[in-house]
Amino acid sequence: MYAINHAATALLIKKNNPEVPLFPLLISVQFVEVLWVFFNYFGWEHFSVYGGRVHLDFLPYSHSVFSGVAAAVLSFCVINWGYKNKKMAIAFAIGVVSHVIIDVIFHEKDIQLSPFSAKPVLGLGILDYPMLNFIIEFAYGIFCWWYFKGSKSLLWVIIIFNILDLPMMLAHGDALTPFVKYPFILPSVILFQILITWYFVYRYAHSKNDKNGSVMEEI
Ligand SMILES: [Zn+2]
Repeated sequence: MYAINHAATALLIKKNNPEVPLFPLLISVQFVEVLWVFFNYFGWEHFSVYGGRVHLDFLPYSHSVFSGVAAAVLSFCVINWGYKNKKMAIAFAIGVVSHVIIDVIFHEKDIQLSPFSAKPVLGLGILDYPMLNFIIEFAYGIFCWWYFKGSKSLLWVIIIFNILDLPMMLAHGDALTPFVKYPFILPSVILFQILITWYFVYRYAHSKNDKNGSVMEEI
């Protein structure tokens, strides 16, 4: 799943935990993705390109079921005992786990149960069908917006970022050559997407449309 729709998941959690600020929730839903970015920079995890498509193949430290649960438990402990905020600790942990659950649905079979066992690997493989992937992600993003009862501006953020993902979803063959030549590009693109969707979702989740349709800041 692409950054905008992981970010949209934070809206679901926020709606159910109104007293928890949105920003930590936006971090929680992308926590393991940020790890993936840095593990790729360090060379601990890697992707590859073959058969004309990108395959994430080696990501057991950031994206296994075990590491997702471990990251959730660890963040729960830090926030609950370090910051004495149980509600935020639970909501944050849910956000961390949500990422792995969603990725199991969308990824190819590349998510291990733990970093210690190469098999079995999980993944329903929706990413292999770009248009189906686009439609499901788009519908999911809109659902999150609807559930959150967000502003029109927030809806546009979700629509525009989903459409901007299409070239990445459809990219294949020679279009992927830069990723092979310069492996830092893919994690950098993903890091950029994470940061920019954090900003826009946060910015427009806190606004509502007035009668004239222009954006007002919520106090
Ligand atoms: Zn992921």
